[in-house]
Amino acid sequence: MLRHEVVVVGAGLAGQRAALAAVQAGRDVAIVTKLHPLRSHSGAAQGGINAAIGVNDSIDAHIFDTVKGSDYLGDQDAIEFFCKEAGPTVIEMEHFGTIFSRTDDGSLAQRPFGGAGFPRTVYAADRTGLALLQGLWEQLGSQRFTLYEEWELARVVVREGRVQGIVALDKKTGEFQQVAAKAVIIATGGAGRIYGRSTNAHSCTGDGAAAAYNAGAFLKDMEFVQFHPTALLEGGILVTEGARGEGGILKNASGERFMTKYAPKVLELASRDVVARAITTEILEGRGFTGPYGPYVHLELMHLGKEKIESRLQEICDLCRSFAGMDPVTDPIPISPAQHYMMGGVGTNIPGETNVPGLYAAGEAACVSIHGANRLGGNSLMETLVFGKSAGAAAAAYAAKAPATTLQPSDLDEVTATYRTWFGRTDGEDPSAIRTELQQTMDRYVNLFRIEADLTEGLRRVRAVKERFSRVRVVDQSKVFNINLSDAIETEHMIDLAEVIIVGAIARTESRGAHFRKDYPKRDDKNWMKHTLALRTPSGPALSYSPVAFTRWEPKERVY
Ligand SMILES: Cc1cc2nc3c(=O)[nH]c(=O)nc-3n(C[C@H](O)[C@H](O)[C@H](O)COP(=O)(O)OP(=O)(O)OC[C@H]3O[C@@H](n4cnc5c(N)ncnc54)[C@H](O)[C@@H]3O)c2cc1C
Repeated sequence: MLRHEVVVVGAGLAGQRAALAAVQAGRDVAIVTKLHPLRSHSGAAQGGINAAIGVNDSIDAHIFDTVKGSDYLGDQDAIEFFCKEAGPTVIEMEHFGTIFSRTDDGSLAQRPFGGAGFPRTVYAADRTGLALLQGLWEQLGSQRFTLYEEWELARVVVREGRVQGIVALDKKTGEFQQVAAKAVIIATGGAGRIYGRSTNAHSCTGDGAAAAYNAGAFLKDMEFVQFHPTALLEGGILVTEGARGEGGILKNASGERFMTKYAPKVLELASRDVVARAITTEILEGRGFTGPYGPYVHLELMHLGKEKIESRLQEICDLCRSFAGMDPVTDPIPISPAQHYMMGGVGTNIPGETNVPGLYAAGEAACVSIHGANRLGGNSLMETLVFGKSAGAAAAAYAAKAPATTLQPSDLDEVTATYRTWFGRTDGEDPSAIRTELQQTMDRYVNLFRIEADLTEGLRRVRAVKERFSRVRVVDQSKVFNINLSDAIETEHMIDLAEVIIVGAIARTESRGAHFRKDYPKRDDKNWMKHTLALRTPSGPALSYSPVAFTRWEPKERVY
């Protein structure tokens, strides 16, 4: 049986940073990842990473913007830790070899981003995620660790009240393997593909968060789903907030710069939930354009000039020209909101510990929580590094003292029995059809504007999808890269998370950050200044609540 002290699941920025910290603490570390590390969704991040290193900026200003952006649901102790670590972290990444964009005097360039009082977002043109991922991968590559690549996490094994290891599918051979570990760090990223229209890669299926939930961990604040204001076409390819940071403006079909109505002071640079709702309101009230991929509004960059657009927003130019058949230098970009980020995730404290001993989480899969009800652009890349590092260090310290694991060969048989039934069926449901139904349900009933009747119907449909999944059938009997099997494993995880999102959203009878209830349009601090916690039970998620940590910032009305 394979055996390591610390197993990190996921090789995006959070997983790599966690692994680096655990290796440097002297532990035997393995990374299990379903993609090549450089293919992780972190590499798709465009706009940048936040750190208050500008001359007129301050850590307190970053803390305040993040607290306000979170609609006061973010834990202020975690936010303070995060904002203090951000400066040293960006410098560390620069020393690791990340090639950031620079000003004429050679210092790190910073651009304005939504919800931020200062230009605080460090960037590498509009390919920041890839630049960070490459820098970190070079550092990790010089260390000793084991990489299980193209391996898909199926289950986290917990017994005797603590983590014993994991079971994963080696996609290259089709065999399930178990890896004994004293500590497991979930760094599997977001779950955006629960929705059909999402900026997320198709690999963002929330496996790690679902596996942690199955293993008894709390999922926290899952009802808070971020919709990015500006996405292209039916699939939802992202057009970075950096485009507005560089001066891009939004116009409706009458040519009106409509953000003057919704955020008179900061216009297009209000926080994401505000801008996304403004665009959707324009569309719903008939002031959008109509097109083959649904209604949209315009994002104009033309006034910025060819040189600025092509140097600062290279990737946006490529994406628009290749996929949308238009050129942002000469024409407005057709955009509308799409699912973008999960504020919720596996509930952790600052060191990344969950309620299950030996189980840790970091990055988008986790909820510390610094984003609360709404994440600010540029804070997520920084979160992966700051909290990846602390989770790696904490898991290493735990593993140094924890007793040996008691993972047995029979554990593998037990876990894989379910999968054998999927292969053995002669009739049953196709996982990809079930996944599509799930995505359509989430797009239609659990979107940006929510109301009880829709959410209840959404839950009914997701539960019907879950019932269909109990008859899932893997038709393809082949061993090597069996996509049919991966599809089934992922779809099961996605259904669990969708159910938690909706149950939490129905219960939360207020509007806060990204969770907007048309039937409860006001924030209700008296009853809802609290985190939602979901625990798995046989009849579905059981909700409980935990207090928000306050340090120095009293809740105020949030206006931009
Ligand atoms: C298009 C786009 C642009 C963005 N731009 C920005 C930005 O400019 N600034 C910002 O701050 N944030 C941005 N974000 C958000 C940010 O990039 C992500 O939240 C962050 O990179 C997530 O990092 P991660 O390490 O948690 O997960 P990821 O980078 O998604 O990595 C997940 C890892 O988990 C592995 N994995 C997943 N499931 C399994 C499984 N079952 N078994 C084994 N391995 C598994 C994958 O192989 C992968 O290695 C953007 C997001 C998107 C989608």
